[in-house]
Amino acid sequence: VPAGRDRLRIAIQKNGRLAEPARALLASCGMSWRESRDRLFCYGESLPVDLLLVRDDDIPGLIADGVCDLGIVGRNVMAEQDGARRASGAAPAFREWRALGFGDCHLALAIPEGEAWESPAQLSGKRIATSYPALLSEWLAREGVQAEVVLLSGSVEIAPRLGQADAICDLVSSGATLAANQLKPVVTLFESEAVLAGPMQDLDAARGELVELLLRRLDGALRIRNSKLLLFQARRESLPELLPLLPDAEAPTVMQVDGADRLALQVLCHGHLTWQRLEDLKRAGAMGLMVLPVEGMLA
Ligand code: ATP
Ligand code: MG
Repeated sequence: VPAGRDRLRIAIQKNGRLAEPARALLASCGMSWRESRDRLFCYGESLPVDLLLVRDDDIPGLIADGVCDLGIVGRNVMAEQDGARRASGAAPAFREWRALGFGDCHLALAIPEGEAWESPAQLSGKRIATSYPALLSEWLAREGVQAEVVLLSGSVEIAPRLGQADAICDLVSSGATLAANQLKPVVTLFESEAVLAGPMQDLDAARGELVELLLRRLDGALRIRNSKLLLFQARRESLPELLPLLPDAEAPTVMQVDGADRLALQVLCHGHLTWQRLEDLKRAGAMGLMVLPVEGMLA
């Protein structure tokens, strides 16, 4: 493993939910790699940026220790470890540099389906199973509730059935796992998505430039993730009806087609273009609507 510190090192999850999308995002920033035989390290070929493939739980610590410069990890993992550090009196050692818009989930409190939910006060004296003791304890303290936190590293959702706990606090995305275990979510404690994590302070000069290049490309990639180029024609008098339907668009490029009345418009649209929206545009006078994907963009 070449340890030249003029190269940038990014930690990502080796296996799991964030592994594939993290790589795809970095690849969309123009990175390519050669993988080591033990699959722990990817040597950057197109840029001096290497990947370390690890358990997601290790990523904040690798940044705190300066072993890696950046990492891609769930905000939930960052917040939990940050909370644990704070509780033990340690200074903050990593922060969120960018939200990445994938890996969406939330930390929810869930109770057995058959039980009524009135307020957090009813958890007083109860046992709550979780893998997120710091976030749960912070919430309990905020609510002024004293409950027992039962720490489990996995399979939290079966704890109530096993008689290990009365409630759970776990990550939820669709809610299917909760339902399959006859649990219902009652409070959201924390909203999460994948983030680019980095140290509290900026990186030193040599790697700083590389980070800036990467962030510029990353911001471009994030901005066009849902972006589409919309092409259509319209009569000039339809514009006051058409433009309010495109609140998420950049200033349109408008060209005259024949005489002054008929216009051709080219609009970069950042939000989701649903069928509904296209039909509304057509009704408002858009003709020959065409939606094109955007491959790349440099602001
Ligand atoms: P590792 O082996 O790296 O420790 P893991 O089992 O801790 O993996 P995964 O289950 O792959 O982690 O989840 C990684 C991240 O994906 C979570 O920390 C969270 O940010 C996000 N995530 C999105 N949806 C969910 C979900 N339904 N359940 C759990 N995590 C989710
Ligand atoms: Mg993990």
